[in-house]
Amino acid sequence: MQVEIATEAVPDLTLVQTCTKNPNHARFFKFNGFRMENIPEQWRRPEILEYIKNIGIRVVRLTVKPPDREARYGSGAVYKGLGFYFVLTNDHVVENQTDVVNCTVDFFYDSEDQSQVVTSKGVQLVACSGLHDKSVFTIDTVPPKIMHITKSDDIAPWVKVFATLEDKSISESYGMLLKKWNEWYVWATVEESQRKPVVKCEIEFQAVKTERVYSTDIDNTDKMVIIKLQESTLPQVIKESSLLNTTAPWPRGNRDFIPVVIAHPHGGPKMISVGKLLAVEITDPVKPSFVYHTAETCPGSSGGLLITLGGDTLPYNGCANTIGMHREGDSQEEFRGIPIENKNLNLSMFQF
Ligand SMILES: [Zn+2]
Repeated sequence: MQVEIATEAVPDLTLVQTCTKNPNHARFFKFNGFRMENIPEQWRRPEILEYIKNIGIRVVRLTVKPPDREARYGSGAVYKGLGFYFVLTNDHVVENQTDVVNCTVDFFYDSEDQSQVVTSKGVQLVACSGLHDKSVFTIDTVPPKIMHITKSDDIAPWVKVFATLEDKSISESYGMLLKKWNEWYVWATVEESQRKPVVKCEIEFQAVKTERVYSTDIDNTDKMVIIKLQESTLPQVIKESSLLNTTAPWPRGNRDFIPVVIAHPHGGPKMISVGKLLAVEITDPVKPSFVYHTAETCPGSSGGLLITLGGDTLPYNGCANTIGMHREGDSQEEFRGIPIENKNLNLSMFQF
């Protein structure tokens, strides 16, 4: 499988001469032309169309052009947490602070007509993880049109992390709380200049600032540290919170969802593709959860959004979430003995 970044931006997919990944670009739906009949019949409802469109406006095109390197194009999505907006994408699209400050973020690139595009710039890397292939950064301007994003239907609550490093210095940062079945974890980042093994952490929950939790069970193998918490030490409010409260207009708990990807293939206009779910792979609780599917993607789609139409992640990890992120793809005839009709084998990830 190949990561899906593009090295040039094509303003109209009909102009792409050869695409070895996915020659059938006609199967993409243009974002601003996506209509009810493009939704598979069993979920063809106005509120579902509205949900897909409302989430899709968060998808942005990313152009990363660090000095002395060729430009690369990918996709990302905008979220809100702790009162500020940030972009979530793959670590292989935006790897470090140099990439962030050399990253252009294009909102509303929804058709070949680019007159509605609003451009923003990357400001500060908040967190990145090689293992999970994710990075999070802030941007300088947020268009008013996407400021209605207030529901935390897709991110875990934030925590503040005071990490004691090996040399006894303290690193202060933000982290995200997550739960897989009955295991609780915090993902936190340690500033690059301070990156020494973390030996102890103190966690302050944004929801209950009066109670702090300590842990020495810390995994330092990734760029992002993973802190395991004992459930017995957690404040009651946290234990009772649903963490990921899906607001999707379909019933919770269906494992056979329809994968829908919203991204910027070939660095061009935003497209929607609808495919078939092939497999979900969850191994270690702290490792990423993989979703294999056939919703068409091309180079440039890395970091785009995955929507689990008609289902969610509850049967897989104990938390109902309907949003994930795209990551890799390949042209393949079959997957583990299952023929792939459109020869498009893709790998996306659940949020956790
Ligand atoms: Zn293509």
